[in-house]
Amino acid sequence: MMSRIFSGIQPSGELHIGNYLGAVKNWVGLQHQFDTFICVVNYHAITIPYAPEDLRRRTHEMAVGLLAAGIDPEKATLFVQSMVPEHTELAWIFNTITPLGELERQTQFKEKAGRQEQVMAGLLNYPVLQAADILLYRADIVPVGEDQVQHLELSRVVARNWNARFSPDEPYFPEPQARLTPMRRIVGLDGQAKMSKSIGNTVGLMESPEQIWEKLRPAVTDPARKRKTDPGEPERCPTIYPLHRAFSSPDTVLEVEVNCRGAKWGCIDCKKVLHASMVAELTPIRERAAELEADPARVTETLERGAVKARAVASQTMADVKTRMGLPLA
Ligand code: SF4
Repeated sequence: MMSRIFSGIQPSGELHIGNYLGAVKNWVGLQHQFDTFICVVNYHAITIPYAPEDLRRRTHEMAVGLLAAGIDPEKATLFVQSMVPEHTELAWIFNTITPLGELERQTQFKEKAGRQEQVMAGLLNYPVLQAADILLYRADIVPVGEDQVQHLELSRVVARNWNARFSPDEPYFPEPQARLTPMRRIVGLDGQAKMSKSIGNTVGLMESPEQIWEKLRPAVTDPARKRKTDPGEPERCPTIYPLHRAFSSPDTVLEVEVNCRGAKWGCIDCKKVLHASMVAELTPIRERAAELEADPARVTETLERGAVKARAVASQTMADVKTRMGLPLA
């Protein structure tokens, strides 16, 4: 049987090149090799304060972005978490077999809890819901960035605990394996923090060529290149060189290296070439997104179909789980 992968993404609104390169572009390739489930995790999003109207908009925009970026609903199962109630049902069950200590020592919990005045139980139990997301589909593989490895480890603990208690002879849940995303984390255009829309150091996937240039022009480059005649070192260029490696052809990347080290061009010339590469890749995505934005009913219908496909698997898992736990089926 084809291996199954599960990926979740927060409904953060419009995609930007950070989450596109770090996750989504990878999924677009993986959907051809694996039975792929992609879930917009809106139940995770409500563990911190939010405005309902804003969440609705961000969820829709994320779906549009994923479809425009190349997630094919004929190949992958794309759906919204709250449309498949089995996620929270299984999460409750997993809460009963997850040691509190495991949750309290999660780095992300400690970071997020430190920023809240009052910490809600949902924030602590977030990784339990994440375990339910993955194990509901009995996914073998989870594509993750490095910051997600600890959560995935918790999903493996949950699978192990549940199997030991309720399915000791033949493990029912696989212990999902991490598949690290090939792209290293992309630093923001300020050369400092991780790319984030709230900091404003990234490029939105739907931005126009002019807007992209406005972002690239002031981006931080190798500090050694003060003048055009100063030779640079691409590896010390925190922003433009990594983006060339993501968006430009191998020949162009080579040209960048030669011209940078040999001071054969200035950083603005280099940025213009990157701009052309980015516009070439992002224009079709922006055009597809505009088509989808013009027809919101089509997006809703795609998500509904995705939820039906997801529920077919999820309800079977819940029936198996309940049977093994002595819980009557509805
Ligand atoms: S020439 Fe290009 S790679 Fe070199 S420092 Fe400037 S922007 Fe970066």
